[in-house]
Amino acid sequence: MPDALQTSRAKVLVSACLLGRPVRYDGSAATLEDALLDRWVGEGRVVPVCPEVMAGLPTPRPPAEIAAGGSGAGVIRGDGRVVEADGTDVTAIYLAGARMALRDAVRHDCRFALLTDGSPSCGGSFIYDGTFEGRRIDGEGATAALLRQHGIAVFTPHEIIALAAALDGRERT
Ligand code: SF4
Repeated sequence: MPDALQTSRAKVLVSACLLGRPVRYDGSAATLEDALLDRWVGEGRVVPVCPEVMAGLPTPRPPAEIAAGGSGAGVIRGDGRVVEADGTDVTAIYLAGARMALRDAVRHDCRFALLTDGSPSCGGSFIYDGTFEGRRIDGEGATAALLRQHGIAVFTPHEIIALAAALDGRERT
């Protein structure tokens, strides 16, 4: 059981691109302008991660999707693949990135994560269907799946209010 000081400073794993870092596959950021996130950054409770860059992928890099019919959990189990549009199999590196993000979450005792939606790594509520035609499907990326399997609650940017409530609830316990 963490002590009160640790509890009041509960940390949140956050996708680096949400924090304005230009690490997306196309060299852009996905900056989330939100007072709650700004406050958490100011309080020193944000742990930034970019699983794809941490695993050694360059920026920019080719877009990748979880192959049709697969899922983030499948990638973790070993029966799903992450591919680039030309069919190049990049599963191993996406899996490595997921494991590095989990390592950082454990190291900093993060029980919560705020991750960019739609990514084959960070997606929390939707991903793309593997056809590279921009079609969304319900699902999660490999990092989001691995974090959830280890008890870390993953929130999307649309769920930041719910994340704030979850943090507040934890701090009252
Ligand atoms: S892997 Fe995650 S943090 Fe990195 S660019 Fe993609 S969505 Fe952002």
